[in-house]
Amino acid sequence: MVEVKNLVKSYGNIDAVKNISFTANVGEVLGFLGPNGAGKSTTMNIIAGYLSATSGTVTIDGYDIVDDAIEAKKRIGYLPELPPVYQDMTVKKYLNFMYELKKVTLPREEHLAEIMKLCGIDAIADRVIRNLSKGYRQRVGVAQALVGNPPVIILDEPTVGLDPKQIIEMRALIKNLGKKHAVIFSSHVLSEVSAVCDRIVVISQGQIAADEATDKIAYMKSNEMRLLLTVEGNSASVISAISAVDGVTKVRRGDRQSDEICDYSVEYKKDTDIRRGVFRALAKAGCPILQMRDAGMSLEEMFLTLTTPTYQDKGGKN
Ligand code: ADP
Ligand code: MG
Repeated sequence: MVEVKNLVKSYGNIDAVKNISFTANVGEVLGFLGPNGAGKSTTMNIIAGYLSATSGTVTIDGYDIVDDAIEAKKRIGYLPELPPVYQDMTVKKYLNFMYELKKVTLPREEHLAEIMKLCGIDAIADRVIRNLSKGYRQRVGVAQALVGNPPVIILDEPTVGLDPKQIIEMRALIKNLGKKHAVIFSSHVLSEVSAVCDRIVVISQGQIAADEATDKIAYMKSNEMRLLLTVEGNSASVISAISAVDGVTKVRRGDRQSDEICDYSVEYKKDTDIRRGVFRALAKAGCPILQMRDAGMSLEEMFLTLTTPTYQDKGGKN
């Protein structure tokens, strides 16, 4: 649905976006994750047709954002980082205004009512935007992006400045939108992106550092994998049983839960699956497994590795 190819943007001699390519599809929420200044807003402004690229192309449903701007823009709803504010309009009036601006042909009353309901702003339809909380104003921002029911929704840091409750509500709304749209949503908050997105594109210094399914991203940079276990039984027997399993490289004892129950961290070679072997070895040793969880490198470790050039020198895993 969205195809970004070899995007470059220079502001004078600052190369904000160096060579970015990725795609986004209907039915997924794509998280655009990167520290401040990484080039997220620049990229999103180009995708939405607000800013021209130095080179490279963006197509929306096959329409080029420059050559077929009208058709392409019809298919995009955009909430910029700093949304234009129409402080003196009521919510309803503003959405009607956007409806006309976008020359939407869907049945007006029904369409706007549906959007307001989805965004949870139907109860404040007649309030003036100036008087709304930041959380409600952001929802109105998302609502205007949905006017005309575009297949692509682009949201630039929609949770910045919201309180924790509002953040949770906004995340739920974004996740819900991902069912029927291609949603591209930027953030510099790792936990947020991993909670909401199906896929994460990590951007660092104007370049893509990773593009992976969310559940895979923590593992990709790591050569060693980790299995976390809670096992009942004599520690020496447990460690020797696990150590003998094919693929295991290191076993460490963690916290003791009680006299007989203890946590263990087991490192093993990438691309092997030791779970069944561990199960059999411990069953044979008469040590019941009470808990088993696969854990790669933590998402935080991965993010630092990808976005901090010197992290590996400081002892991060490669
Ligand atoms: P992000 O949204 O990830 O924080 P931006 O896309 O806003 O990053 O900025 C990327 C880089 O481009 C930064 O170094 C920023 O200072 C620079 N930049 C952004 N907009 C402009 C501009 N209008 N003129 C000059 N430099 C800019
Ligand atoms: Mg930004």
